[in-house]
Amino acid sequence: MNMNKLVSGLLFGLSVVISLPSMAGGKPFEDKFRQLDELLPTPNTYRTASGAPGHKYWQQQADYKIRVKLDDQKQKLTASETITYTNNSPDTLTYLWLQLDQNRFKRESLDKMTRTTSVAGKENPKTTFSSMRNRVKSSQHDGGYDITKVADSRGRAMKYVINNTMMRIDLAKPLKSGQDIEFSIDWNYQVREQKVLGGRAGFEYFKEDDNYLYEIAQWFPRMAAYYDVYGWQNKQFLGNGEFTLEFGDYDVQITVPADHIVAATGELQNTKRVLTSTQRKRLAKAKTANKPVIIVTEEEAIENEKEKSSKTKTWHFKAENVRDFAWASSRKFIWDAQGYNEGDIDTMAMSFYPKEGNPLWERYSTEAIVHTIEHYNKYSLQYPYPVSISVNGPVGGMEYPMITFNGPRPKVDKKTGEKTYSKRTKYGLIGVIIHEVGHNYYPMIVNSDERQWTWMDEGLNTFVQFLAQQAWEENYPQRRGPARKIVNYMKSSHQVPIMTNSESILQFGNNAYGKPATALNILRETIMGRELFDFAFKEYAERWKFKRPTPADFFRTMEDASAVDLDWFFRGWFYTTNHVDLSLDKVTKLHIGSQDPEVENAWDRDQFNQEPSDISNMRDKGLVVRTKGKPELLDFYNEHDEFTVTNSDRNKYVKDQKKLEDWQLELLKNGSNIYVVDFSNKGGLVMPIILEVKYTDGTSEIQRISAQIWRKNTEQVSKMLITDKEISAITLDPYWETADVDVNNNYWPARVVESRLALYKRKKSKSMMEKFNQKLKTKEDLEAEEKKAEEKAKAEKDAKEKKAA
Ligand SMILES: [Zn+2]
Repeated sequence: MNMNKLVSGLLFGLSVVISLPSMAGGKPFEDKFRQLDELLPTPNTYRTASGAPGHKYWQQQADYKIRVKLDDQKQKLTASETITYTNNSPDTLTYLWLQLDQNRFKRESLDKMTRTTSVAGKENPKTTFSSMRNRVKSSQHDGGYDITKVADSRGRAMKYVINNTMMRIDLAKPLKSGQDIEFSIDWNYQVREQKVLGGRAGFEYFKEDDNYLYEIAQWFPRMAAYYDVYGWQNKQFLGNGEFTLEFGDYDVQITVPADHIVAATGELQNTKRVLTSTQRKRLAKAKTANKPVIIVTEEEAIENEKEKSSKTKTWHFKAENVRDFAWASSRKFIWDAQGYNEGDIDTMAMSFYPKEGNPLWERYSTEAIVHTIEHYNKYSLQYPYPVSISVNGPVGGMEYPMITFNGPRPKVDKKTGEKTYSKRTKYGLIGVIIHEVGHNYYPMIVNSDERQWTWMDEGLNTFVQFLAQQAWEENYPQRRGPARKIVNYMKSSHQVPIMTNSESILQFGNNAYGKPATALNILRETIMGRELFDFAFKEYAERWKFKRPTPADFFRTMEDASAVDLDWFFRGWFYTTNHVDLSLDKVTKLHIGSQDPEVENAWDRDQFNQEPSDISNMRDKGLVVRTKGKPELLDFYNEHDEFTVTNSDRNKYVKDQKKLEDWQLELLKNGSNIYVVDFSNKGGLVMPIILEVKYTDGTSEIQRISAQIWRKNTEQVSKMLITDKEISAITLDPYWETADVDVNNNYWPARVVESRLALYKRKKSKSMMEKFNQKLKTKEDLEAEEKKAEEKAKAEKDAKEKKAA
């Protein structure tokens, strides 16, 4: 059935809203449509009431020059950086704040000290080996920066104070509005083993070939953001609230073992120095290719793995107008690339992965990058950077400007060496690449304050990820976005509103990714419609690209560009933990009374006769009653019931008719069916009422009533439907598009709830005597058994291959 046809074919001649008094159930009336202004900051010249940057909008600039050396023997970084900080604010600054993210890994960091555990409180404490290894190693690992120098442009030491993950540099001379300052910092730190210690960066060690793969991020002291809403954003890094950063230009030289391949934010400057002529030729070919071109093949990467060069090479990268810089390095990297040129966009999608990533990575990674850019451009802004990179390493999924770290890999059968992957891994890989590359848009370009609001980047990004995945293949297995997927979270307890600081969020993934992404999808499909939504959403990205928006700027822009009052929606979905549960309570069928006693009294009698008999009267049938043998006891009242029409009734009818005007008489003859449908709001969130109405003639139609139906009464409303046809069934929210947590109260007539009762066998456990008598096996016995199994598996594999050949 064509949905559009259904929606446009609206049939109801007339519909009237009947509202009940405002004190429903004795509770005070709550205005769910109250405007948000009392919660949002007052607009000013920096941020307007329309949600756009104001005419005096400003932001700081931080440019970096970094020289870093990777010690592959000790997995250690040593670097020297020069920062040029430009004060574009109207304020005079007497000190500067920098972020020292690595200090989160110091033994006594705020994060480590405040981490809680639930193990001991349990009756039977248990945890996984890897989780316990993480705890033990974390408690031993004393990471963090060793800062060896902080000096001004003339080399004079500057005064500084370190408070956990933040460093304050006190300025000898205040930095006035419009001025800039140059200073440098020398530092080093021990890179962490990511697979053991976790985190958004680190190294992975490959035992089989004795090699390291590095994913390096949050690696250099970075300027904290200073902006009109919060001043210095120097809230400590506790692990969840990510990074609030300034835009700037980067000049970075990375020295690594000569046989390493390096991927980084920005454009490689010294291609001739670090790449072979073959690699350069392949890269040139990739620029115009329509599928990935291999720059370093798997065979070449395997050769590199063996080299173990003791020489070094320096890779030089430059990046303009980025808010961060990250890189990856290994001699294990296979490298493929494909150019993407569309309109003004000229970029190179590239993937770097060890052989362990194949066959998944060569097939999907670069293709997924190109797909992401294509679809995010459609809904957000035009991708402005020269490269977009996906790296496979220890980190599960993390984003940086132009470069992302993505984890999924196939599984290797230890016995046969065969590589297989699950459906979950395949879509996990495609999904995580789309997600992380998508972060280039939010928050790498639409530069929201992540330390404050996780949803502003994760929620918006997860929503566009959903749209991009829709365009990957039909019926893509979506995890977040469809309304029905958020229902269990919405009805769960232990929740906080979306508008909660990043470090205080409960149920992180659902709260900051799933719920906002679903909310946006509902706005698009159900509340605003695709045309109005897409324009407003794109307008937000266009207004705030390379700037720093706040929640109010998003809320205001969505209304400003669409003329849809969404305060009720943002209030309900972003500021409360209410859920949607609308209920279709009752359907009443009415007809207009003709006032003619001959007609109406007969109708009344008919209704009376439809009532069930009185139980005593029923059982007393056949009882010998007094009047039976004495008809003289029967009179007028035994012949006429109360429905008998009297002459008085007839006279009154004629008299009344004379008093009515023609249009009133006309209405009395109207034969339409009038249905009054009662709804109640059990969940708290007001939402549109979407009805599928089925008629006895087999036709059906969809009616969409916007959420404003609840504005005078948020708990109960009734809707009148007038039709010539007879309604046979009504379904509320027929496509499950509102995240209604209980659809069983959405049907008239009510629906039988189907479920399954599973039967199971009770398991018999082994007795202690049986266990005692079991044959004793030595380690050698077990090894022999294992070897036998291995041989069998190998023989089976060989036979399979032979058959296939
Ligand atoms: Zn994310």
